[in-house]
Amino acid sequence: MSGGSSSKSQKEMARSIVQKLRTAGVRLVALDWDRTIITVHTKGCWEDGPSKLAKHVRPCFKYFIAACLDSSLHLCVVTFSSQSPLIKDTLKIAIPHSDTSAIIIRGNTKDWARIQGVPILGKQQHIASAIREVTSKRHQVIQPGEVILMDDDTENLKIAETFGHRAFFVRDDMAMEHFKECVMDHLPNNTKTASDKN
Ligand SMILES: [Mg+2]
Repeated sequence: MSGGSSSKSQKEMARSIVQKLRTAGVRLVALDWDRTIITVHTKGCWEDGPSKLAKHVRPCFKYFIAACLDSSLHLCVVTFSSQSPLIKDTLKIAIPHSDTSAIIIRGNTKDWARIQGVPILGKQQHIASAIREVTSKRHQVIQPGEVILMDDDTENLKIAETFGHRAFFVRDDMAMEHFKECVMDHLPNNTKTASDKN
């Protein structure tokens, strides 16, 4: 992350995005990997190791993920990539001052059970499994409307919306200012879940 006052203002903007998400009733943030958290598409076969891939993590997401981990929001990566260990290691390197082990990773791997009754469509299985982990390990029940999917693939977003989730499009050149603006302008407040504290 770059130093100085710009880093400070990025941190502040990330914090206000998290605050806005919480006010809007979001409790689980599901992030796509390829061309969302990272600016490149690995096609699930990145061979240059996590240090090199960490250089491609979108700066605004470094701050946003750190701010999420600092809050009560649950965070998961939902991806068709099967390189989950690489994703874990990359996040650890890119965001060294946060406990990135708290991020639930759901890739196209065999280390998590598919959820019965949920179609294999878009990121729905990945999201449903992350929700299940929050329930079983953190003892919190997450409703569909409390999940936001951030993805560069509009098809995945459309599907997520039909399942009652919020959807947030990540454009190619997304920087913090635009990220904050979109979240602030387009996410309605949800007073129903405003009692969710801490
Ligand atoms: Mg993608």
